[in-house]
Amino acid sequence: MSGRPIYMDHHSTTAVDPRVLEAMLPFFGEEYGNAASRSHAYGWAAEDAVEAARAQVAGLLGGAARGVVFTSGATESDNLALKGAMELLLPEGRGHVVTCKTEHKAVLDSCRRLERAGARVTYVGVDDAGRIDLDAVADAIGDDTGIVSVMLANNEVGALQPLAEIGALARAHGALFHCDAAQGLGLVPFDVNALEVDLVSVSAHKLYGPKGVGALWVRRRPRARLIAQMDGGGHERGLRSGTLNVPGIVGLGAACALAQAEGEARARRVRGLRDELWRRLSEGLEGVRLNGPPLDARHPGNLNISFDYVPAEPLMLALKDVVAVSSGSACTSASVEPSYVLRAMGHDEERAHGSIRFGLGAPNTAAQVATVADAVIAAVGQLREGSALWRLAQQGVDPSAIDW
Ligand SMILES: *Cc1c(COP(=O)(O)O)cnc(C)c1O
Repeated sequence: MSGRPIYMDHHSTTAVDPRVLEAMLPFFGEEYGNAASRSHAYGWAAEDAVEAARAQVAGLLGGAARGVVFTSGATESDNLALKGAMELLLPEGRGHVVTCKTEHKAVLDSCRRLERAGARVTYVGVDDAGRIDLDAVADAIGDDTGIVSVMLANNEVGALQPLAEIGALARAHGALFHCDAAQGLGLVPFDVNALEVDLVSVSAHKLYGPKGVGALWVRRRPRARLIAQMDGGGHERGLRSGTLNVPGIVGLGAACALAQAEGEARARRVRGLRDELWRRLSEGLEGVRLNGPPLDARHPGNLNISFDYVPAEPLMLALKDVVAVSSGSACTSASVEPSYVLRAMGHDEERAHGSIRFGLGAPNTAAQVATVADAVIAAVGQLREGSALWRLAQQGVDPSAIDW
């Protein structure tokens, strides 16, 4: 291998598309105006660029441009949606929140804070494929429910959630419906009206745009009311103060426009590569388990797998020069915690510890898939050779049944 490993961690972040970079460059140079400066040409040029980007973001979501609020990313958008809505709804007797156990931490930790402020939160479970329990959502939503928050695609196992059904349930009870669409947007069909979504979190760096910029789309009709969580100059219709990140916003807009134009073709190509990686690994190795839903019911770039008797850490170490991937476990300072997403799916600690997430993306190629598959097959084989448990299992002994 020469140079850096092959990048297959597109759920963590994506490279900026060269065309997005091209669109941003003037705004780091001669176009340095403040979009809030109303009295001169520098400000007007920046404002025009921001408004063009607002239309591009709205275009991808299928909603009104006036609903787009620029933020620093999906984390901030999730915080603004949940805390901003509940600050109004809690005192109005709608202090109940419905979300899912496998949401991103930006949603779950916002919910924890809302609980400390007096809200009641229902964390709905998922099935063994990571799909939310719709019956439990229907049971949970009541007339005191202020907001329902469910993601488009899970960032670990790629599960696509039944948003249209959830949106209809929320609407029927007069609750707001928030969707964290950071994963999957630009790859899977999404339309705020078809799905009856009121609030949508977007992150530029998950769709070939720059880091540190995103948006919250807020429905205007019927109006989703929010309280700003950042006080200041009253930018973004009073919903998010702070001088706008003009180059970042231009990049987000360009990334959304490209996703709208090319998303379908991009998804087809990425899905083909992902399916080929799975075919090679599942044919080349025994004891390979797919974590999450069937391939056709998940994020097109997601392949989360566990290899029996092979923990993720040594496998990733063995592969570090070949491919950049993530494991399902999060390293905290003291220990390696198994993924809360895999645990919510009912997987035991061993399978959760063994999970590796391949996140394929637009820049990947068929040759890279072949290289990675060969390396993974070789590394798993080598690690299993050194595993007494694997050898026992090969002899027909179930190691978990042994009383040590
Ligand atoms: C990456 C991600 C976020 C956080 O987005 P940032 O723009 O990095 O703050 C939130 N939710 C999901 C599902 C994500 O994948």
